[in-house]
Amino acid sequence: MRVLIAYGPTREPLDPVRYLSNYSTGTMGKLLVQVAKKFGHQVTAVECPQDAQTARDLLKKLSALVPKHDVLIMNAAVCDVRPKTVSSAKIKKNKLETLKLIKNPDILATLAKKKKKGQIFIGFALESGKLLKNGLSKLRLKNLEVIYIQEVTSKISPFGKAKPKVHSLDRFGSSQSYGILSKERFAKIVILKAENLKMRGKFA
Ligand code: C5P
Repeated sequence: MRVLIAYGPTREPLDPVRYLSNYSTGTMGKLLVQVAKKFGHQVTAVECPQDAQTARDLLKKLSALVPKHDVLIMNAAVCDVRPKTVSSAKIKKNKLETLKLIKNPDILATLAKKKKKGQIFIGFALESGKLLKNGLSKLRLKNLEVIYIQEVTSKISPFGKAKPKVHSLDRFGSSQSYGILSKERFAKIVILKAENLKMRGKFA
């Protein structure tokens, strides 16, 4: 399969020295790339923020790449908002107390509008409550084949080398709880699921 994998944190600049971002380290994305290659797939990796800094950069990059791929694995931790204006000069401290933020586009929901028959989109979500309810609404809103939901609480963190607690939901109505597992194992599960969905698509 031709597999496109986006991962890592996006960044939204405020001025030449500051940005908004999140705690994503890109660990899971790198493992997904490794496993997909090991399983013999043709992989295009888009690593944020190196290959696409902002949410809008990432949307532009993926819009061009998605038509050439069978599978999109959207593991990027996209900043939900960005500063309304980006200052070309360093903002003075006393002007930083109030920032005007605006919403970023939802990349998957936008890409879903041009999704071709047989293409597989896989998303991820971090949730602190109502895991399956919130996961299901994201699966639908973003028109995904499968979503992997990871729990985030004061005790469970999915970042970096930590072991995530994972649940999945797919568009055929099946759900699974994996418990706490290594990211290596998680990456294998994701790639095997993509292969399985592709086989299903062929005979649908
Ligand atoms: O942030 P959220 O929980 O909505 O993320 C769920 C999925 O949607 C993830 O796969 C993430 O990469 C993707 N996403 C997106 N565009 C955004 C925010 C998230 O495609 N603006």
